[in-house]
Amino acid sequence: MTDLQDVPGLCAELAITRAGLGRTGAVSAGGRSAETPLPVRATRYRTTMQGDRALSRLETTVHGWTRALAEDLGVTPFIDGPHLLALVRERRGDIGRDPGTLPLTQPTELEQAAVWLAGHRHQLRAHEAAHELLVEVSGALAELRYLVDRPIELRYLGPCPATLTDGRGCGAELRVQRGASWVRCGRCRIQHEVAEIEKSARAAAENLSYTLADLVQVTTSIGQPVAKTTLYRWKREHRLEPTGWQHRDEHGVVRITDHPIDDSAVRVYRIGDVLALARRNQIARGSAA
Ligand SMILES: [Zn+2]
Repeated sequence: MTDLQDVPGLCAELAITRAGLGRTGAVSAGGRSAETPLPVRATRYRTTMQGDRALSRLETTVHGWTRALAEDLGVTPFIDGPHLLALVRERRGDIGRDPGTLPLTQPTELEQAAVWLAGHRHQLRAHEAAHELLVEVSGALAELRYLVDRPIELRYLGPCPATLTDGRGCGAELRVQRGASWVRCGRCRIQHEVAEIEKSARAAAENLSYTLADLVQVTTSIGQPVAKTTLYRWKREHRLEPTGWQHRDEHGVVRITDHPIDDSAVRVYRIGDVLALARRNQIARGSAA
């Protein structure tokens, strides 16, 4: 039951990760960005934080077992009593820690129940379902450990769209943790909603033109694939009109012009037009069904 002893320490680690003060945040090594966006995830229904699911799984297990064992023993664990509070702080490593480095929070009921259970290891071992408890607790803890230990993966979002006080655009590179809803710019410190930045990036990208062959790949890579046969059909039916001509110069550099320069020029089409056609088709299919 040593796993139960680890609950307070892991909860403290998780709080650090969630506050964005983890290793990849405060300590920047090898030129990596010191920015860690908020580990918040907004779904259509509610806002959740990293580890919510694992935490509630752990809570269900620990509280269930605390109730059952306390009933068996005919005792009531003194939650928020000095003994359990002190045990949690000791297990967290709070004692002797520089209070400036960490947000010190009141030990939660989960942490106190976990150390209370850990203190009854002999009674727990005697329990016929002890193995079950062990499996449940280690499973939930493994999930939490994964969150805490995982190096935060950052993806490139685009240039910061903020306007600085001197009127120039910020333009600093924004990188964001997968699944994050907000990102703070490391240069101007302004927070942006990831969805908004993606929206304007998409709008800018929709003005780019590609050959039909490239459009198959490009639409696939942005998660809205349009089949080659569909693209050629739209072209035949003149629903898709070219926006220019693409050709390669002697250095292999691709240029797009509004007229064909030589016989090797290939027609290009605006990806925004393709996506709009695809959406219209989808709506038509949806209403026909
Ligand atoms: Zn900025």
